[in-house]
Amino acid sequence: MGLLTAEGPLLSGAGKFVNTQESSDVRHTVVLIPGDGIGPEVTRAVLRVVDATGVGIRWQEHVAGLAALAAGKDVLPEETIQAIRDQGVALKGPCTTPVGEGFSSVNVQLRKSLDLYAAVRPVRNLLGVEARYSDVDLVVVRENTEGLYSGIENEITAGVVTSLKVATEKGSVRIARWAFDYARKTGLGKVTVFHKANIMKLTDGLFVRSSRRIHEQDYPDIEFEEVIIDAGCMRIVQDPSQFKVLLLQNLYGDVVSDLCAGLVGGLGVVPGANIGDEHAVFEAVHGSAPDIAGKGIANPMALLMSAVMLLNYLAKKRGDPVCHQAAVRVRTAYDKALADGHKTRDLRGELGTEEFADAVIARL
Ligand code: NAD
Repeated sequence: MGLLTAEGPLLSGAGKFVNTQESSDVRHTVVLIPGDGIGPEVTRAVLRVVDATGVGIRWQEHVAGLAALAAGKDVLPEETIQAIRDQGVALKGPCTTPVGEGFSSVNVQLRKSLDLYAAVRPVRNLLGVEARYSDVDLVVVRENTEGLYSGIENEITAGVVTSLKVATEKGSVRIARWAFDYARKTGLGKVTVFHKANIMKLTDGLFVRSSRRIHEQDYPDIEFEEVIIDAGCMRIVQDPSQFKVLLLQNLYGDVVSDLCAGLVGGLGVVPGANIGDEHAVFEAVHGSAPDIAGKGIANPMALLMSAVMLLNYLAKKRGDPVCHQAAVRVRTAYDKALADGHKTRDLRGELGTEEFADAVIARL
């Protein structure tokens, strides 16, 4: 299965290297999962931009989702997971998950098999992108491996079904620690935990107590706030500038991420990372957008911003300043492209996916 582009299939076969231009100096190999729907379109645009920096990333393509099924493989092939274990890092397009039937979510499986317990979604205003607010700069930190996404559902009897919400002390403590650590390292300085412990006293109770304990023990210098999620959602919409790092369980984090995307211009401009102690997978918050797939109009910004997060991760994790320089160049170039009015249609612009990538490349 190759990347489907306007020019036809560009890439082929799991494990192949798929750069859009040659690089004489390969610094890192990164697994690339184009995904489904708009995934291949936005992935190709992002590869073109990153390759144009000459940073020396070698992209190794693997499949997941519908693309994997179409290639006669499992929806999440073991070779894809193993490749990420081997290389340590991946850039991933969105994968379609059938609603109400069919296979379980590729994304949930991937995050669990690699223990990518922290989903990190920075949400900020971008110059040139019209939004409801102009002072949003927050980061959603979502627990990524348990909660209501444990996939344990049962039919008790005809017409009665249950879904099990799982919270462990280990899972709650490590994500709390991750969020506080992030708030300290980035200088954001404040963590707000959203919960519903007034109703789910055991699961949400454990989650909120764990963050309180980690705060008291190890992060007294970081401001900490506990907020019941319904009131919290109202406060986000009233004044998002009061939040810095939002710490949430799995389902709450999923919902609140999209809510926050709506504050700054939509899903086209919110990137993400799924981070564990050993591996990391970078992907946009948005899904495969079947309504616009194949039209060449999807906004590649969210995946491009995710690629910048990937470059910064490589820079820190492997002590590689060249990756950091490339991240700064790409970020500066897309900020400038947007500020100059080059935008895709979801941002009230007129450009297609590839044209926007061209505008960024021209400003590198
Ligand atoms: P979606 O995020 O795909 O789309 C929601 C809306 O936002 C649509 O109108 C879409 O056109 C628009 N949109 C999303 N990304 C855009 C972009 N880059 N540029 C312009 N417009 C964009 O959400 P959905 O429709 O609820 O989900 C579609 C599929 O994606 C489902 O199968 C779902 O399970 C899957 N999904 C996958 C991931 C992932 O792989 N990480 C995440 C979310 C949803």
